[in-house]
Amino acid sequence: MHTTRPARNVRALPIGAVAALAAVALGAGPVAAPASAATESSAATTTTAATAAAATSASVDGCRLPAAVDGLGSGFPLDEQALPATGTLKAAMLFVDFEDHPAPAGSLGEAEANLAPGVEYLEQVSGGRLDVTTTASDGWVRMPEPSTAYPFERGLTYEDHVRYIGDAVAAADATYDFSDVDVVWVSATREAPNITYSPTTNFLDVTADGNHLTHAVTFGYDQWRWGGLVLAHETGHTLGLPDLYLFEAPPEDPGNWHAAAGGWDLMGLISGQGPEFLGWHRWQLGWLDDDQVVCADPGRTTTARLNPVARSADAPSWQDAMVVYPLSETRVVVVENRRPVGYDEGIAAGGALVYTVDTSVRSGHGPVRVVDSTPGSADGLDDAPFAPGTSWTEPTTGAVLSFHAGPGDTSRVTIKP
Ligand SMILES: [Zn+2]
Repeated sequence: MHTTRPARNVRALPIGAVAALAAVALGAGPVAAPASAATESSAATTTTAATAAAATSASVDGCRLPAAVDGLGSGFPLDEQALPATGTLKAAMLFVDFEDHPAPAGSLGEAEANLAPGVEYLEQVSGGRLDVTTTASDGWVRMPEPSTAYPFERGLTYEDHVRYIGDAVAAADATYDFSDVDVVWVSATREAPNITYSPTTNFLDVTADGNHLTHAVTFGYDQWRWGGLVLAHETGHTLGLPDLYLFEAPPEDPGNWHAAAGGWDLMGLISGQGPEFLGWHRWQLGWLDDDQVVCADPGRTTTARLNPVARSADAPSWQDAMVVYPLSETRVVVVENRRPVGYDEGIAAGGALVYTVDTSVRSGHGPVRVVDSTPGSADGLDDAPFAPGTSWTEPTTGAVLSFHAGPGDTSRVTIKP
């Protein structure tokens, strides 16, 4: 269950601020972005994620919606401050402890093992397109301040977070080479529960060994509840993806921060039943080829045969992974096939998962909304996929989407305008 508190305050930034939504947090709320916009020079030295999606085929142009918000979002390209989602990601993993909470002898292995599945996830779900190279600190690194000097429990600001990561980098620097590091991961000893949660910043602004470090994640005490997939979720932010859980639950459904996307994407509920990445997120990241995307012409009938999205990384590029039906310049309907394979192995009801993507909606405000085939059911969105023989009428266009079983565990979708 997701029990952390969502954000209540997102600091508004000046129009044009490149730092908008730069710093994001899991659960307890966004870490405030730098108050002074455009102070970062890192954008100039960071390869943009846009290059991963440079090869646009004409057939998907109408479905590859341009980004409509600054910062983390659901459009193309990903935020300019995102790290590339393909190629090698070089991560520094610093295990830290404190004078008031020293790590017990022999506890390093447990800490390493807890987060390692997150790296496995990224390499598996990307089909190896993202190669994560992790170099850990040589044992526990003692932080210069007691754990209580870092106000995780009192609303961590951007400045607090940079100080925390900067202290960890400085403490490790004598024995660690940061010269080619892309992202700094700082994992606190399990003995320090007041390092409560796991925020990410894409605007670190710390220099070590001549390298201007721009991206960092703190792994706090909640890593022991989430397990290693929290590393993959936070890396999703490093790569530019938004949060799909709601920072504020809907008034008509108080407490349900997962009313928009349920447990159907790792950027929503980390402990959800289907923590694969949505096909849309894979496409944004460059982990799906354009050939695997069927872009529907709104004026014609479209059919597609969809393979399970969890297998899309290993599938030949001519096999369809999702069908996209454009509704407007900022909205599309997406259909993908979810089956109990890969990280989806725990899903209760496979079938055709239908969702809308709105590129004008910010992280944490519901940029992705799953269509529930069984509204009002006790299982919430867990039984959202459409079974063979059912259909759904898109309310704004009247288009009818019909779902059928295909060969094997494929799903056939027909869209009639
Ligand atoms: Zn998040």
